[in-house]
Amino acid sequence: MTKVFFLVIIRHLLEQREQQILSIHACRSEQTAGRRIPEPPCPVRTAFQHDRDRILHCKSFRRLKHKTQVFLSPEGDHYRTRLTHTLEVSQIARTVARALALNEDLTEAIALGHDLGHTPFGHAGERVLNELAPGGFHHVRQSLRVVDVLEKEGAGLNLTFEVRDGILKHSKGQGPILCEDPAVMAATLEGRIVRLADIIAYVNHDLDDAQRAGLVKNCQIPEAITSILGASHACRIRTMVTDMIENSLGIDDSTIRLSRPVADAIVELRDWLYEHVYQVPTVHEDFEKASRVLRELFVFFAGNEKALIAHGGRRLFGDRLDVSVVDFIAGMTDRYAINLYHRLFLPQPWKIL
Ligand code: MG
Repeated sequence: MTKVFFLVIIRHLLEQREQQILSIHACRSEQTAGRRIPEPPCPVRTAFQHDRDRILHCKSFRRLKHKTQVFLSPEGDHYRTRLTHTLEVSQIARTVARALALNEDLTEAIALGHDLGHTPFGHAGERVLNELAPGGFHHVRQSLRVVDVLEKEGAGLNLTFEVRDGILKHSKGQGPILCEDPAVMAATLEGRIVRLADIIAYVNHDLDDAQRAGLVKNCQIPEAITSILGASHACRIRTMVTDMIENSLGIDDSTIRLSRPVADAIVELRDWLYEHVYQVPTVHEDFEKASRVLRELFVFFAGNEKALIAHGGRRLFGDRLDVSVVDFIAGMTDRYAINLYHRLFLPQPWKIL
């Protein structure tokens, strides 16, 4: 047996294992609707393993470590960043996928890729780019643009349909978390798990970080929420995760869902966080400053193509200049945006004595 032939057998064995152990509702790697540009399969990994690895190795993924989750450029070592948020979403989603015998590799790939298009400074950055970009801006569409176009110098990652679909349909904004509209929901159950794992992760870790920052205390959380979800961080995550596992994939249906009381309590907690954390003046003031930084960078580069190229921006496929500027700014980390703002708009000290 040649070495190459042996390697190909490995992928077939992995695909066979999926046939044996996954639920009939799972999306199997072998059944993928494929990649936008057909390519030979990896000899030792399934299609979804391959996608997961491509995302993990891309530059946009590494930049998540210096992008805001809620608190801007926190000095404390224990605050979440967009990267740790992504890892927490992935961990929760994989736990549910494995418990329901769904495809854990597909779930992980969607979770790791879901926020790749997030701007610096979290939702403050997203809001300002939405105002300035022709046609608006949403991190979901930008996440897909990152994997389809922007990574690998314009070649994209050429991911499978199922991973791209899950990335595109993960976001709920302030809308309903449970929804049956097929235009809104991911085509796979694995994508639907990530949609719920995203909100489970962020309501819990944002609350934990807000307590760390001294903005709220555990005893302030309304009893209507704690009586259903629990009084501690660990207890609340456990309640949400086990509720999703218990209420999904009934005998004659194939839906990912939460029970009504738990879903309502999560929405109530999210609304409470908006009021007591996301929109409080101390957090909001920094958002205003961050918005000003990005607005000035946008105006400067939208009127100066040479400067865009000189500072690391790119023009791809004849995109309009303002589209290239949005790509450049959306890809920045918080610290990159602040350093660039300093260099461009603030006087620099003479370094020669
Ligand atoms: Mg997210």
